[in-house]
Amino acid sequence: IPPPVKTSAFRSGDDHGDSMDQPAIEIRDLHKSFGDLEVLKGVSLTAHPGDVVAVIGGSGSGKSTMLRCINMLELPSSGEIAIQGEAYGLHPARGGGLEPIDPKQVQRIRAQLGMVFQNFNLWPHRTVLGNVIEVPIQVLGVPRDKAIARARQVLARVGLAEKEDVYPSFMSGGQQQRCAIARVLAVDPLAMLFDEPTSALDPELVGEVLSVIRDLAQEKRTMILVTHEMAFARDVASHVIYLRDGLIEEQGPPEQIFGAPQSAHLRQFISSVV
Ligand code: ADP
Ligand code: MG
Repeated sequence: IPPPVKTSAFRSGDDHGDSMDQPAIEIRDLHKSFGDLEVLKGVSLTAHPGDVVAVIGGSGSGKSTMLRCINMLELPSSGEIAIQGEAYGLHPARGGGLEPIDPKQVQRIRAQLGMVFQNFNLWPHRTVLGNVIEVPIQVLGVPRDKAIARARQVLARVGLAEKEDVYPSFMSGGQQQRCAIARVLAVDPLAMLFDEPTSALDPELVGEVLSVIRDLAQEKRTMILVTHEMAFARDVASHVIYLRDGLIEEQGPPEQIFGAPQSAHLRQFISSVV
């Protein structure tokens, strides 16, 4: 029996598609500039199904930009990104950089990636239930009654069963963020992207959100988690990436990154955050 082959969506030919080993998210040599400012300088990353990849790094190191490139909220300047073996079709844009060959493909892939933002980004004029059923109905074409049934399940899961008719502004930050997580879960995403999900919360509300994320990690949801919660990252991550100035300066299992960091910058960063 031949050994399992590590597949890559970027290998040309027909040798990908059905391996159990297919990455959920694969990024290769990602660059992103805003005008003259090069924010990502060649980042590569692979997340297999069930991986929890924690991304740490100082402010301005490019963490959010990387996440936003993964779901095409930002277009990369160069590089390749594949979700579940399907590479985004990109071609050179007229003004430089890349643009999608097929915007529908981007929309379709993006619907499979749930993003949880620092500031929740709930729709203020929709109730909790309204926020959770919007994408399933409008983007994925799920019938309304099915979408509502699923929404109630995921809201119960994050402890918001009693809140479905409430508007976001009447809830605490912790409740709003749990609603944002429910909104992502409602589409049963291939992977979840968290961008500092607890940074905007009062300290006493951080725990309730981390506990929901911990549950999701334990059920082997694939996720990329940008966070400053070092103890939490150490606890839930399968792999940690330290981003510095647009490059991965160090990466490895959490025991190594937090227990025996090699880079002096990383050592300094960890001691500054803890
Ligand atoms: P992090 O999330 O690690 O704090 P970001 O990815 O948000 O870092 O930002 C990295 C750098 O890119 C910063 O210098 C930021 O000012 C810059 N940047 C981010 N988004 C834009 C944008 N849309 N236009 C111009 N500069 C940007
Ligand atoms: Mg950021």
